[in-house]
Amino acid sequence: MTEQPYPYDAPASQALFDRASAVTPGGVNSPVRAFKAVGGTPRFMVSGTGPYLTDADGRTYVDLVCSWGPMILGHSHPEVIAAVQDAVGRGTSFGTPGEGEVALAEEMVARIAPLEQVRLVSSGTEATMSAIRLARGFTRRAKVVKFAGCYHGHVDALLAAAGSGVATFALPDTPGVTGAQAGDTIVLPYNDLDAVREAFRLHAGEIACVITEASPGNMGVVPPLPGFNQGLKDLCSANGALYISDEVMTGFRTSRAGWFGVDGVVPDLMTFGKVMGGGFPAAAFGGRADVMAHLAPAGPVYQAGTLSGNPVATAAGLAQLRLLDDAAYVRLGAVSEQIQALVSQALTKEGVAHTVQSASNMFSVFFTDRPVRDYDDAKAQESYRFTAFFHSLLANGVYLPPSSFESWFVSTAHDERAVQMIADALPAAARAAAEATAA
Ligand code: PLP
Repeated sequence: MTEQPYPYDAPASQALFDRASAVTPGGVNSPVRAFKAVGGTPRFMVSGTGPYLTDADGRTYVDLVCSWGPMILGHSHPEVIAAVQDAVGRGTSFGTPGEGEVALAEEMVARIAPLEQVRLVSSGTEATMSAIRLARGFTRRAKVVKFAGCYHGHVDALLAAAGSGVATFALPDTPGVTGAQAGDTIVLPYNDLDAVREAFRLHAGEIACVITEASPGNMGVVPPLPGFNQGLKDLCSANGALYISDEVMTGFRTSRAGWFGVDGVVPDLMTFGKVMGGGFPAAAFGGRADVMAHLAPAGPVYQAGTLSGNPVATAAGLAQLRLLDDAAYVRLGAVSEQIQALVSQALTKEGVAHTVQSASNMFSVFFTDRPVRDYDDAKAQESYRFTAFFHSLLANGVYLPPSSFESWFVSTAHDERAVQMIADALPAAARAAAEATAA
């Protein structure tokens, strides 16, 4: 494959993008899908099989986005597809309880010890929004602590100094979020327990909860320093606040029991999405039974959803979770390490300063030689090198997240052939990164 210039190297995607831009703001239905940070035309995908995606121009890519995490078994996994077809054949939504949602909740509760009860919702955003409301209702306090660079969906109160697209597009605040909505949010630097201690001192008796990504992936992969999550939990317990571990990204990805399975810190509440939906809109929040008992209809804190526990989504999620045994996580870890090593070797060979950071099989590459411990560190990288690196890989059949502030994702379907395609594309990408200059 030869390297092509952007943005006009994908005529069919460009034509679709033009149509999309006429009817949809920015031409995309979620900002991170746009190529705004890297330039060029977003690729419109028409199909996915195993570790590959095929775009409207008929070009195939090794996919290192995996739908931003959910496609942990690769695309169109036959057993997931069969479960979906079976469910669809019986109807698509009943607006009543059904066995599928019970089975999915049981599977989740069986995997994660602190998860005593769960409530299913349709997106990670709904999960964190509901968990925050529940924490406020339970504690009868207003304030929420979050960390700069952590993304918890587009919940009004949680958009301040957020990661993911908010970081990619350098949006300090979002118009439309009022002072009242954000006024009870306290934003602190990540990995800084002293700052949390100080916040509890300054706002004694006012903090309902601390919410954190179990291991952040939305400012790139920035794992908690040893003792950080336990320190958060202890501070919350000592001050009558709830510790909410957002496992939307890490849940069922970083181990059978998500990040809890890695660090064992026991949250009061947890949030989930992505992997548990098998590529469909299913998400959840849950945790301590005595806290969850405050949720309607058992308790007074209202929360609801027309499509919550949807039978097709729960069938897909359950089929996917049941395939995620210990062997699957060993395989994910091995392929992730292989790709990390290949990327690092290629960049080192070209003399490009970089740091590869991982959290189990999640990883990302920062264009800096300093360890990245918080959002300020992540922002200090040479992102312009990522742009050149990204486009070279894209031109040679490797699809990365179009931002230097995102995790890369692998699947159990990433086999030797897929890894070889990445290995073949890396030397030119590393050279492009080396030759890139700041705009
Ligand atoms: N929480 C975390 C940690 C996430 O990574 C995301 C999405 O990327 C969300 C919440 C929001 O999930 P959703 O996009 O399903 O609303």
